[in-house]
Amino acid sequence: MPPLSRLHASARDDVPVTAPTTWRNWAGTALAEPARFARPATEDEAAALVRAAAAAGGRVRAVGAGHSFTPAVVTDGTMVSVDHLAAVEWVGPAQPDGSTEVRVGAGIRLSALCEDLARRGLALENMGDIDAQTLAGAISTGTHGTGAAFTGFAAQVRAVRLITADGQVVTASATERPALFEAARLGLGTVGLLTAITMRCVPAFGLRAVETPMPLGEILEALPEPDGPVVTNEHFEFYWFPYTDVALTKANNRVTPGDGGAPLPTWRRILEDEVLSNGAFRATNALTARLPALTPTVNRVASRLLTARTYTAPSAAVFTSPRRVVFKEMEYALPADAVGPALREVDAWVRRTGENVPFPVEVRFAAADDVWLSTAYRRASGYIAVHQFVALAHERYFRAVEDIMVAHGGRPHWGKIHRRRAVDLAPLYPRFADFLDVRDAVDPGGLFANDYTDTVLGPAGR
Ligand SMILES: Cc1cc2nc3c(=O)[nH]c(=O)nc-3n(C[C@H](O)[C@H](O)[C@H](O)COP(=O)(O)OP(=O)(O)OC[C@H]3O[C@@H](n4cnc5c(N)ncnc54)[C@H](O)[C@@H]3O)c2cc1C
Repeated sequence: MPPLSRLHASARDDVPVTAPTTWRNWAGTALAEPARFARPATEDEAAALVRAAAAAGGRVRAVGAGHSFTPAVVTDGTMVSVDHLAAVEWVGPAQPDGSTEVRVGAGIRLSALCEDLARRGLALENMGDIDAQTLAGAISTGTHGTGAAFTGFAAQVRAVRLITADGQVVTASATERPALFEAARLGLGTVGLLTAITMRCVPAFGLRAVETPMPLGEILEALPEPDGPVVTNEHFEFYWFPYTDVALTKANNRVTPGDGGAPLPTWRRILEDEVLSNGAFRATNALTARLPALTPTVNRVASRLLTARTYTAPSAAVFTSPRRVVFKEMEYALPADAVGPALREVDAWVRRTGENVPFPVEVRFAAADDVWLSTAYRRASGYIAVHQFVALAHERYFRAVEDIMVAHGGRPHWGKIHRRRAVDLAPLYPRFADFLDVRDAVDPGGLFANDYTDTVLGPAGR
């Protein structure tokens, strides 16, 4: 492998891009040697690039911030980043429900988008736990946050502009090319190169975050209750440390401006979010990687150190936080009421096998939506995400958890590690065949395909 200085990791903006180059994703679980790495300065340049690649018989794969854990962007053809297409193009009028549509270059990072929206008094309605992704990458894999009444990113998309395999720039929305719209707003980059995305945004809001350690059994018992924490909080999630009976719950609820509440003091934010959540956590992971027998004890100590805290801050600062300890991840969407039983089975498997799992398991929730390939398609969903420290093997752990998730009707996150193939996935998505029809109509030759999309969707032009 070439030295790091020659690697293009799109998560690291300061690394100059040269071609040919080696690319790797954030977790280091995918490497690529694209023949060419392109960053078109304009949409016209991007369209010319697509036409040239098609004429030369090559393939094109779009890359965002490289935060998918799968080989989703790997290609030996042209890897293209639209990170120069990252400006806000248009802000619509406020709608009766208070929302506002905003059209923005598809390559914008979520962090930059949130900053721009905040200056306009706007915000994204819901977010996942980091803001490093591009908007195009986030929607293309079905990235989501938590909140039983809230959907993932793709369901908030109102229109897209993309370059199709014939090099044409087309727009699509619920009223204009509706089938292409459904496929393009969550399509793993297989129906075209997204250049602009119109998102539904909401007036800027603050969140009060209440973080409380609780016995896992108590949380699981309360989950199905009509007055349980998933229903009574706007955004509820919890992190459970394997080998313990403790989970850290996080409940985020909207506050109206002037409602009071204080941000965390800077010293406490740095101590807890940087030193304990990242610095000390990295050290304990490195320790248990060398001495796996210590993991249950370390997890028990870590879970006892969890303390309750409450703070208020602008939404993006509460939804997202730094993730500096590199890990590998698999996440499954289950019918919401299967979360408790499935988690109990994971707990039993880990205890039975003594698997070395120093990372907490994350549990989140989302509303059903109508996006064809959404993991929450027409199903109120609970998400169970398992992580493994980057230096540790993940295969046995993820395989066992995957078997449990599959038995509960789980749909794997499109951007995270899993072993499902097109034949397994098709029955889970009622509109899977419709998606393939659209893809095959706009890209019969598989210009935008790669081995990964061949595996999870099947080859183009069936
Ligand atoms: C630390 C960390 C935290 C995470 N947290 C969450 C979370 O809270 N919730 C969640 O759901 N997921 C989460 N993820 C997963 C992540 O959100 C997704 O994998 C997301 O797709 C990454 O976006 P990206 O910009 O890095 O895209 P990439 O990984 O670079 O690409 C993803 C897909 O988008 C396609 N694509 C990119 N740009 C374009 C374009 N212009 N046109 C067409 N297709 C395009 C690519 O071809 C590829 O198929 C996390 C990942 C990491 C590493």
